[in-house]
Amino acid sequence: MFQSFETKSAPQFGRSRVEALRAQFDDLGIDAFLVPRADEYQGEYVPASAERLAWLTGFTGSAGVVLVTRREAIVFVDGRYTTQLKEQVDGTVFSGGDLVNEPPYLWLTHQDGGSVKGLRLGIDPWLHAGADVRRLGKAMEEIGGSLVILAVNPLDLVWSDRPAEPIEPVTIQKLEFAGQDAREKIRKIAATVSDRGAAAVLVTDPSSVAWIFNIRGNDVPHTPHPLSRAIISAAGTAEIFLQAAKLGAEQSAYLTQLATLMEPSELLGRLSVLAGEGGRILVDPDLAPLALTRAIEAAGGVVVEAIDPARLARACKNTAELEGSARAHLQDGAAMVEFLFWLDQQAPGSVTEIDAVQALEKTRSSIGQSMQNPLKDISFDTISGAGEHGAVIHYRVTTETNRKLEAGDLFLIDSGAQYVNGTTDITRTVAVGAVADDRKRFFTLVLKGMIGISAARFPKGTRGCDLDPLARIALWKAGADYAHGTGHGVGSYLSVHEGPQRIARLSTQELLAGMILSNEPGYYRPGAFGIRIENLIYVTPAAAIEGGDLPMLAFETLTWCPIDRRLVVADLLSAEELDWLNGYHAQVREKLLPLIDTPAVRDWLVAATETIG
Ligand code: ZN
Ligand code: ZN
Repeated sequence: MFQSFETKSAPQFGRSRVEALRAQFDDLGIDAFLVPRADEYQGEYVPASAERLAWLTGFTGSAGVVLVTRREAIVFVDGRYTTQLKEQVDGTVFSGGDLVNEPPYLWLTHQDGGSVKGLRLGIDPWLHAGADVRRLGKAMEEIGGSLVILAVNPLDLVWSDRPAEPIEPVTIQKLEFAGQDAREKIRKIAATVSDRGAAAVLVTDPSSVAWIFNIRGNDVPHTPHPLSRAIISAAGTAEIFLQAAKLGAEQSAYLTQLATLMEPSELLGRLSVLAGEGGRILVDPDLAPLALTRAIEAAGGVVVEAIDPARLARACKNTAELEGSARAHLQDGAAMVEFLFWLDQQAPGSVTEIDAVQALEKTRSSIGQSMQNPLKDISFDTISGAGEHGAVIHYRVTTETNRKLEAGDLFLIDSGAQYVNGTTDITRTVAVGAVADDRKRFFTLVLKGMIGISAARFPKGTRGCDLDPLARIALWKAGADYAHGTGHGVGSYLSVHEGPQRIARLSTQELLAGMILSNEPGYYRPGAFGIRIENLIYVTPAAAIEGGDLPMLAFETLTWCPIDRRLVVADLLSAEELDWLNGYHAQVREKLLPLIDTPAVRDWLVAATETIG
C-alpha cells in the first residue's frame, strides 16, 4: 500500500532531542535555531532523511517550522494542523505558534525587547530560500540580533539514526508521453537565458529538471521526480547534478547525450567556476536555497532573479501530455466506479474511513494491472472524511481518528493517482443512507459552482482570480462560502500541485491553452459535514461563438466519474446546469462502460448516470 496510517506518536523523545540540539548552540555561536519542514530541494514532499521537524518534535504535518531558543521551542503550524500538533508533540516541551498570522520572523519582532535582544539565530542555508532569508534577516536587524548562516546543521549532528538519502532508480519518460524531445526543451531554455543576457540558469526544482530532461524518479513520496538540479548555459550546454547510483546503463547513456552528468556534491564547485567568469546566473529566488545563491555571490558572480524558465512551459501541456492525461483519467474513472460500487454495497456503520482508503487503492491497483498501466503511486495521501471529518479540509485519517461511515453521513473522499501517462486528483462526496435535505441543498450549491467553472467561456487574458467567483456565486447567494482556492495546477506524471496556474482570489496568472487545473469548490459545516466535488479540467480554445467577436477559451473535462445523483436537488439547477450534468453523466457512461466487465458494476454505473429532471 502507498498510504500508511499514523498512530499517536509517543512524544517523550522531544525533551532529550531538544536538549541535545541546544547543547550544540555554544560551539556554533548561536542562541536559537530554526528547523523548517523543508529539504535541500524545497519540495512539497521530503525524503525520510530530511524529516527533521518530525524527528525533533514528533509533528508530521506537511507544513511547519520549529524555533528552538535556549528557553523555548515553538512549533509554528497553520490552522489545518493545530489539533494534530497538540496530539503529536510533548506539550511540556513545545508550544504552538501561528505560521500564517505570526510566522517566526514576525513572532521574533513581537517579543518584548529583553527576551530576544541580541539573539543570534542560526539557519541551515540549504533549507531556506532567499525570500525567506531576507524576511528573517530584517527581523533580526529590528530586534538588534543577528542571523547566523551555519556551515553545519546542528540537528544533523545529533540525529544519530538519520535515514540514508534516497537513491531510487531514475526512469526515462518516453516521448509518447512527454511529447517533446529534451533537446528541444534545453534549446528553448538556453534561448531564454541568452535573451536575459545571462551566462546560465540554475534550475533547482527537481520537477523542472524531470520535465526538461524527460526523466522521472521515486526519491520522495507521491511526486515522481528524482532529487536533482541542473545548469543550462546560454550556449545550450547542460549539466545535471544527480547521484550516478540512481542511473542504470540505459538512463546513463540517455542522459549523457543531453548533458554532462555530475554528482550533487559537485554543484557548488561548478557554480563558483561559472560565477567566477563574471557570470550572471538566473535563479528563481522563491525556489533556490540560500546556499546556492551565496555560492554564486561568493565567487563574484551576479544572481539574476528570474522565474524558473521551465515553470510556465511545463504548465502548458502539449497534445501528447493531454492525451496521456485523458487516458489516465479514463482508467482512474473506472477504478473510482469500482470503488463507489463497492462502497454502495456496504451497510451504513460497517465501513471505516481507513477501509475506504484501502479499498480505493486496491481498485486503482487492480485496474492498473488489468489495463497494463500500473498504479505507480497515489498522488497525495487520500482525504477520507465521514460526517464531521469531512469539514476538516485537509483531514488525514489516523488509527485514532478513524471513524465508521454512519447512516445520514456525507462521506468525502479526495484522492489521486500517478500513472506513467498522467496524474489524477478527484473528489466525490457521497450519501451514506438517507441524508438530510439541508445537506442536499448545500451539495447542489457546490455542484452549481463546479458546473459554473466547467462550462465557462472566457476571453484570452483571463486570469485565475477572474474566474474564481463563478465557483462561489451560488454559495454566496445562500450566505455561504469555502475557505480555500477553487483550483490548482496539476503536473503530467509529476506533482499534483503545480504552478503558476491557479483558480483563486489572488492568482493573477493568465490562463493559457493546455494548462491542467483542478475545479474543486466545497462547503464545510464544522462539527457536522463537508462537501467537495472535484474534477480536473484543462484550458482549450473554444469554438467560435456566433455573433461574438472575440476568440474565446474554455475548459475541457478530464475526470469522468458519477456525481452522486441522490444528493442533487434538481429544482435548484437551471436548465443549462441540468443539461450540463446530464450531458456529463451520459459521457461518463459512454466512456467508462467499455472498461468495466463485472455485470453488477455495469448495472450500478448505468443507474448512477441516469438522466435527472
Ligand atoms: Zn483533490
Ligand atoms: Zn485538488
